[in-house]
Amino acid sequence: MNPTLPSHTVRLCHLYPERMNIYADRGNIAVFANRLKWRGMSLEIREFTLGDSVDPSDHDLYYLGGGQDRDQDLVAGDLAHKADALRAGADDGAAQLYVCGGIQLAGHRYQTASGESLAGVGVLDLETVAGSTRLVGDIAISTDLCGPSVEVVGYENHAGRTHLGDVSPFGQVISGHGNNDADKTEGATRDRVIGTYLHGPLLPKNPQIADLLLSWALEHRYGGRVELAPLDDTLEKSAHAVARTRVGLDR
Ligand code: GLN
Repeated sequence: MNPTLPSHTVRLCHLYPERMNIYADRGNIAVFANRLKWRGMSLEIREFTLGDSVDPSDHDLYYLGGGQDRDQDLVAGDLAHKADALRAGADDGAAQLYVCGGIQLAGHRYQTASGESLAGVGVLDLETVAGSTRLVGDIAISTDLCGPSVEVVGYENHAGRTHLGDVSPFGQVISGHGNNDADKTEGATRDRVIGTYLHGPLLPKNPQIADLLLSWALEHRYGGRVELAPLDDTLEKSAHAVARTRVGLDR
């Protein structure tokens, strides 16, 4: 185990914060920053937008939030110039989180509701095609990524139906629609990359996922196996409990 030190810093590449920030997805960044700060560490936030180039050797954590088709259309052309860097970062073991519109663009292709085909960066082996109805509501899934059958809760609102290729789902749907409303898979994961449809934002009420991504990012930067000190998650647990009640699960 590699004890985390106060001087430790996670370098975050935050992609298109001004455009890909639906349902307060930016709140995930506040969770990353605070959970590091509460442990005496820090988050160095670097924002990247249209025209900026990304150096994959310079980041431990990448984040792309959700957006409507219109915003995805605006960033997709630019993302093509960042695709090599994002794939290199993932291959190098950096942590990456893609939410909703983000997971759609992390795949190979997203066909929008108007039939336009947007190229994705190909970090995750998946494809998405918009359907004629939206998949909306509270959702609970079960993931084995940070221990057996950990429950993750959130809110989904997407027209896209995502089908996975050679990649594992992030979790299995307990209640809700998930990737495509048919196969009970939700999101996708490989190496230290997670893609998911869960908004809410995702991390405030699922602190285990936040800590998993942070420990991956610290491992990427400093090596070894990182085990983060536990925090008082009373508030986070009660937010989680409220969300699962909304899904219709018992407390
Ligand atoms: N535009 C995408 C869809 O509707 C993603 C929307 C979102 O990020 N909430 O499928």
